[in-house]
Amino acid sequence: MSSQTTDARMPAAFFGHGNPMNALEVNRYTAAWREFGRAVPRPRAILVVSAHWYIGATAVTAMPRPRTIHDFYGFPQQLFDLEYPAPGLPELAEEISDVVHPTWVGADLDSWGIDHGTWSVLTHAFPDADIPVVQLSINAFKGLDYHLDLGARLAPLRERGVLIVASGNVVHNLGGVDPRLTDEGFDWARRFDDAAREIMLDAPTDAARLDGHRDYDLAVPTPDHFIPLLYLAGLAGTGDGRPEVLVDGYAYGSLSMTAYTVGLSCPTAGRPAGAPSLPADVPADSANI
Ligand code: ZN
Repeated sequence: MSSQTTDARMPAAFFGHGNPMNALEVNRYTAAWREFGRAVPRPRAILVVSAHWYIGATAVTAMPRPRTIHDFYGFPQQLFDLEYPAPGLPELAEEISDVVHPTWVGADLDSWGIDHGTWSVLTHAFPDADIPVVQLSINAFKGLDYHLDLGARLAPLRERGVLIVASGNVVHNLGGVDPRLTDEGFDWARRFDDAAREIMLDAPTDAARLDGHRDYDLAVPTPDHFIPLLYLAGLAGTGDGRPEVLVDGYAYGSLSMTAYTVGLSCPTAGRPAGAPSLPADVPADSANI
């Protein structure tokens, strides 16, 4: 990651965050998240749409020192001890409110902070925690098209040094988890993830239509983890190129870990462990992978 803030258009991304333990682990997903963080220009702020702030309103965090929220239970103490002490950026709340007008956005001064949908990824992508982080809630009262549209409305922030990150899981059925299937996906999970990939790569503005897929009810029993994908789909529909897959895979049968970027290529990030790496004498730019 460069040390200078840039005026160029920021990339954007969707991350499948999966198990909160990914915050502490080193695996091919976390390696891809790190590579993403190294590849992006240094942002002025990171705006995160996290599955874990799913409430009855559209709001942004506006406190100068957001707290690290440990919004889970039954995990090792080490995970509860993890802090992500990034500052907030209160003035960004007003900027967001302006760019999404007439959609109303509330400013949250004291109820939320940085939840694990955000910090489990950012602790790898931006381990120094020195870039301001602001969260945007998911309004649970709104339909899929609202979220796709709101994602598109956020696009001007990319010209102002704001890195927009969505964090959820394309397939997320906790009731269907089989802990024996560490790195596998059920047939229905793979079908839905494949369908989502096809739409994200070819026609992202159609992503809200995934609710008509035959496996939607199994893959998306509640919409909280799916909706963040629509924010990236909406952003992708506003201009500079289609989403690319950063890394993909499955966990416990019923979670997909697929991550997408827009406006940034990390061609080696999703390489399976053990795959051959590029010979040192082949410049990455000409390797065409
Ligand atoms: Zn989650």
